[in-house]
Amino acid sequence: MNVSQWIRPEIRDLSAYHVPDAQHLIKLDAMENPYHWDEPTLKLWLQTMAKTAVNRYPDAHAIELKQQLKKSMVVPEGSATILGNGSDELIQMLMLAMAGDGHKILTLEPSFVMYKMLATITGMEYLGISLNQQDFSLNLPAFLQAIEQHQPALIFLAYPNNPTGNLFDVSAIERILRAAHGFVVIDEAYAAFADHSFIDKLPLYSNLLVMRTVSKIGLAGLRIGLLAGAPDVIAELEKVRLPYNINVLSQVTALFALQQAPLAQQTAQICHDRQQLFAELTQLRGVAVWPSQANFLLLRVNHAQQVFNQLKQQGILIKNLHGSHPLLDNCLRVTVGKPEENQQFLTALREIVANHG
Ligand SMILES: *Cc1c(COP(=O)(O)O)cnc(C)c1O
Repeated sequence: MNVSQWIRPEIRDLSAYHVPDAQHLIKLDAMENPYHWDEPTLKLWLQTMAKTAVNRYPDAHAIELKQQLKKSMVVPEGSATILGNGSDELIQMLMLAMAGDGHKILTLEPSFVMYKMLATITGMEYLGISLNQQDFSLNLPAFLQAIEQHQPALIFLAYPNNPTGNLFDVSAIERILRAAHGFVVIDEAYAAFADHSFIDKLPLYSNLLVMRTVSKIGLAGLRIGLLAGAPDVIAELEKVRLPYNINVLSQVTALFALQQAPLAQQTAQICHDRQQLFAELTQLRGVAVWPSQANFLLLRVNHAQQVFNQLKQQGILIKNLHGSHPLLDNCLRVTVGKPEENQQFLTALREIVANHG
């Protein structure tokens, strides 16, 4: 069988999304919440699960869960919502609905890698405008120029941005919202750790879509994302969504967790520990660290690959970004873990950079 005869060339050229084996490692690579729930909460959850009819299809519209998410995430009245199997699936739905006719997507670089990967898969032309070098701020003149030149169907702005951790200037984003001919998706995967959100601006802009996820607040295993926007566009996306895309165990568990699990306290703890870790990293010679509004920190060292390898040898898995974009030369990304995990990471890093200059 000649596989390559039948597979599209752009798919053959892709590499599958790589997930490293993290067994037996302190896992600080994927922006997960490191905390689970206490025994009484777990017991209650299991009781709820036992009553769940897995022999039946789930609620196709996940009505109860959607209501809870709208409440938890303070989605304004008048905005419609759609759920995805993770926000990754929402990005895919948006592109599937808009691909064709030369429609393009525009975003910033470096940013979330799935925008480019899904553009390739869905056959949309992808354009990335480089962030400013020093502080990863948005280059507004270049971005507005790209909007005029390319008239993208979709603009993606990760807010805070992954992997740089910063929020972009609010007035710059408002300029983009007014200049865009197509839709502007503000991807607020890290909203729970940030000072500012665009969700309350939904009634003001008919081309604004705000995307959220439960992954970073402690429910990464469930795969649930939410997109909020004007009812007419959400209704079109509903036609692209696969029926029953949110399975019943995820629906029941997310509903339970949003009502009963200490997600908000855990998030507050992570924000506190992020500031602590940031302060300690600024003290390390040979390490540069950027302020973050997310649950991770971006660092630059002198020899990122070596530092990454040696941390891994010592049982600590973070993310090596070296080679992924010119602005991320010798950069590493570390997720904020439990205080003791952060301390182990710091201790190991301190020793490694002391030996490698
Ligand atoms: C993690 C992340 C997502 C993906 O979230 P899922 O809901 O787990 O698919 C989306 N956008 C950004 C910017 C992220 O960092």
